[in-house]
Amino acid sequence: MSLDQDRRTVGPPSVPSFNDALRRVVEQGAQAALEDVYALIRCRDDALPDLLGAAGGLRDRHKGRHVTYSRKVFLPITNLCRDRCGYCTFRKDPGDPGAWTMRRDEILDWLAHARAQGCKEALMCLGDTPETAFPTYRATLAELGHESTIGYVREACEMALAADLLPHTNAGVLSREEMERLRPVNVSLGLMLESLSPRLRARGMPHHHAPDKEPARRLAMIAEAGRLRIPFTTGVLIGIGETPEERADALLAIADLHARYGHVQEVIVQNFRAKDDIPMASVPDPNAGDLARTIAVARLVLGGEMNVQAPPNLNPDDLRVLLRAGVNDWGGISPVTRDYVNPEAAWPQIPALADTCRAEGFTLSERLAIYPEYARPDFLDPGLSASVERLGGLIARKDTHVAAAH
Ligand code: SF4
Repeated sequence: MSLDQDRRTVGPPSVPSFNDALRRVVEQGAQAALEDVYALIRCRDDALPDLLGAAGGLRDRHKGRHVTYSRKVFLPITNLCRDRCGYCTFRKDPGDPGAWTMRRDEILDWLAHARAQGCKEALMCLGDTPETAFPTYRATLAELGHESTIGYVREACEMALAADLLPHTNAGVLSREEMERLRPVNVSLGLMLESLSPRLRARGMPHHHAPDKEPARRLAMIAEAGRLRIPFTTGVLIGIGETPEERADALLAIADLHARYGHVQEVIVQNFRAKDDIPMASVPDPNAGDLARTIAVARLVLGGEMNVQAPPNLNPDDLRVLLRAGVNDWGGISPVTRDYVNPEAAWPQIPALADTCRAEGFTLSERLAIYPEYARPDFLDPGLSASVERLGGLIARKDTHVAAAH
């Protein structure tokens, strides 16, 4: 947390009125007093329309009535993970039913299928440093000719580029050296901050058995990515035991990192979804109001230029309220692979999503895994610029055809 944020904690002792707090946060964004931001994220349901109106209006002024998505293939290079988060159905131990490290032929098959379906993003999403926990996995890596997961991921990224797909990797907490290895073969990297709350690491809490969910480690990686000029995706996960104020703290920390390095290309506000096979199976899902409140506060503290995203497959009945709250992006949507992190939640059909957006007064269009504002020499490796230009051109031509058809 920055000195500015520390200073905010000694602000006015009285609880500000919602209207005053809203006015100041609209004017000052992340520089507003912490108590003002808290007043918004704690607001009552009857104040929600005003909060969403302010956030949606800010999005409209900067982004217009326009929302994007990325057409992707989801490649879970390995679902082995050394952490055990209480909400995770993705991770496996070696030998568990469903434990899976993708072989080269599987990766190639999915890449070919994805390209045939018009995908442009290859999302490499995997567990955190399984080689530090599982000797059998180290043997698997050795058979594949690698000593580290990141070495194998880098090879998978090269395969994706050869198949004309743009890699975006989320492989958990990475060192500076690992990010330097991935930067030439990734248009962007990702790591959800998730939460800034150290309480969630305590016994009985969802991150107790997840050393990589230590907030300081995640903040440090996001900052290091900024120093390396890597376009970065991060965000918060709500409903895992954090308080509303802790949600606001996490959003302000992201705003602070972006103010320092300018590399945060999008911020995801993701909601916890209970599943039968997780330790948190009986924990209630956050409701649509809480999600909308968090999105609105994210929009207001991160500003009108930030790309704010919520996952449509986790909220199929609430898309319109999420649009009102200030999102301008739906993230990756795959016509070929499921969401392995939330396998029960089917991706929306893109034409149906476009219809929902249109009914709310928005146009929907495709984007790449690097936003246009980051496709420039200081953020994009020179070896990737031709691919970005070519695939961006395909999207532009498609949009032109759609516009002509209307
Ligand atoms: S959420 Fe990520 S870090 Fe946590 S157990 Fe699942 S795969 Fe591992």
